[in-house]
Amino acid sequence: MSRETGDAPFLPYGRQTLDDEDLAAVREVLGSDWLTTGPKVDAFEEALAEIAGTRHAVAVSNGTAALHAAMFALDIGPADEVIVPAITFAASANCVIYQGGRPVFADVEADSLLIDPADVERKITPATRAIVAVDYAGQPCDYDRLEALAETHGLDLVCDACHALGGGYHGRSVGSLGRLSTFSFHPVKPVTTAEGGAITTDDDALAQRLRIFRNHGITTDHRQRAEQGAWFYEMVELGYNYRLSDLHCALGLSQLRKLRQFTERRQALARRYDEAFAERPRVGTLRVADGIEHAYHLYVVKLGRQIRSGGGSHDDRMVGYALAARRNEIFSRLRDAGIGVNVHYVPVHLHPYYREHLGTGPGLCPVAEAAYERILSLPMFPSMDDADVDRVVEALDQAIDRSLAEDTP
Ligand SMILES: *Cc1c(COP(=O)(O)O)cnc(C)c1O
Repeated sequence: MSRETGDAPFLPYGRQTLDDEDLAAVREVLGSDWLTTGPKVDAFEEALAEIAGTRHAVAVSNGTAALHAAMFALDIGPADEVIVPAITFAASANCVIYQGGRPVFADVEADSLLIDPADVERKITPATRAIVAVDYAGQPCDYDRLEALAETHGLDLVCDACHALGGGYHGRSVGSLGRLSTFSFHPVKPVTTAEGGAITTDDDALAQRLRIFRNHGITTDHRQRAEQGAWFYEMVELGYNYRLSDLHCALGLSQLRKLRQFTERRQALARRYDEAFAERPRVGTLRVADGIEHAYHLYVVKLGRQIRSGGGSHDDRMVGYALAARRNEIFSRLRDAGIGVNVHYVPVHLHPYYREHLGTGPGLCPVAEAAYERILSLPMFPSMDDADVDRVVEALDQAIDRSLAEDTP
């Protein structure tokens, strides 16, 4: 790691884990006949579909392209509304706008920061076509309730599973929940292809449309034509070049072999954080539901004890408020100590683009807005060791102590 602070290395909130096998896999492709859309794409898609437990996986150039492709395959258009959670990466909502549709923001649950099915229900109108459920931090959403809502109201359920590859919900794999699931293989995500993304689905017709969409709307790819000795092709939809290369897919295939091991390491690190914070009432952790296999892309804490209505003593609440007000300061103190904390995310409806174009703003999703003030993502990646977790916990203790000391009159 490049940035050094004293003798302790800078700990980012997330980073890739690569080994010699990964490098060899990429090198092999560089010496082969196919640099893009060759056999590694097929092999990567098969391996991903196997993990997701779906009939199809379609690799695309990044997670945002995967979301765009999902909206395209579902024919989201200008008359349509799609419900998305307020706390997510902007791409979860932007994809609706790419198709001319309107994202409608649903609030999150205070204790898990996952999309709140009760608020989803309130936001459904005759124009609603789909729900994008985001498995925030790596925890699958409440799919029992979301599936029931989708069924009752005739909506498509899309899972933005960019955080959750390797996770599960009551014995079902992430990737098989919802009609379409999207993934990102950015370096901080559960496995990486540098840049990359994919969509998984059991639906043959949707998979076919996704494949056409990623290749300019053309019905065959260049390898299929080469194999058939044919030159003729037809463009039947307006697609894009959203292909993922054989180089990327070779890396992804090698990474997928280690997914189980990565996930288990993330879970072990999370348990260590959980144990530390169980004894530290000033730091709240997110609720994990029963029956969940959590992929722990992120480990998110909420400064101040969980403040539930009617719960917690007056003192707890005062510490909670004091710490929320000091989040940015605690963030800076941690960064100064070489701890690469982050904030996931600025609620999407508070971004200037959304305020200007959709007229959103404060008050629309109050739970998300309040949580946003208090959250911090702590370092979480498979090559961290237990001592790294202890160092983060100690640095957080010190940052909180100093911030509270400054508050005392
Ligand atoms: C990373 C991410 C994306 C976008 O993926 P890219 O590969 O960076 O385009 C979309 N949604 C969520 C929830 C993400 O975390």
